[in-house]
Amino acid sequence: MEKTFRNYTEFDVTDAVYEHYRKMRQNQTLDYVQRMHKKYLTFDKPMTLRDAMGHLNDLIDVSDPDLDLPNVQHLIQSAEAMRADKRPDWMQLTGLIHDLGKVMFLWGCDEDGTSQLEQWGMVGDVFVVGCALPGSCVFPEFNTLNPDMKDDRYNTALGVYKEGCGLDNLELAWGHDEYLFQVLSHHKKNTLPEAAMVMIRYHSFYPWHTGGSYARLLNEKDQQYLEWIRDFNRYDLYTKSTKTYELEELWDYYRPIAEKYLGDGPIYW
Ligand code: FE
Ligand code: FE
Repeated sequence: MEKTFRNYTEFDVTDAVYEHYRKMRQNQTLDYVQRMHKKYLTFDKPMTLRDAMGHLNDLIDVSDPDLDLPNVQHLIQSAEAMRADKRPDWMQLTGLIHDLGKVMFLWGCDEDGTSQLEQWGMVGDVFVVGCALPGSCVFPEFNTLNPDMKDDRYNTALGVYKEGCGLDNLELAWGHDEYLFQVLSHHKKNTLPEAAMVMIRYHSFYPWHTGGSYARLLNEKDQQYLEWIRDFNRYDLYTKSTKTYELEELWDYYRPIAEKYLGDGPIYW
């Protein structure tokens, strides 16, 4: 039988995954997201990519029903699958780094959902804050728990947004995608193409890229975003396996690509 991924309806979805999404839906409000932007987007903590990858060895993503390996293995598996398919070097690098925003747990805390123990502000499928939660969210039964859904400013299809404003003008639930996107946007030596930055920023936005929700908020540019994300997501999702790699052995191959697009100095997190 073929392996299915992201199957949340089978009886074996763990209590931890279910609990994770309950807390995420309950706590990720527009106010929370704005506070996290102020708190975490300070860009004052230098750390190299290689060191960031080393730290991800210590984190297991509780929201992922498919993988119970250290997160760095997932990054290498994604990158190696792209490399095997001869995808461009910048895309391989994107595969290798796309989840590095999870290093947030190094300076995170339980109250923010950004720690090893509480990950609801760091990982998992994201949604738009400031407008109605769609039925396409994983475990939609939790949508009514979100305090913003009782606030008339936020609980409509458009909420605080203008019709057709486009993805880049929406506030998404806080997590590793937005964090790494912002960190790399502020990194002066970053020459990754726009497609890479879009893959990093929106790969967890399942209600949009897979659920097809939020049509009224999108603009023309977002169609191109969707194509990039769909291309990327095959590697994010379908490469998960129990095969493990030594980063040390692969670093000779990936290091020059990382230096080409991001320089050889530290990145400020
Ligand atoms: Fe991710
Ligand atoms: Fe990933």
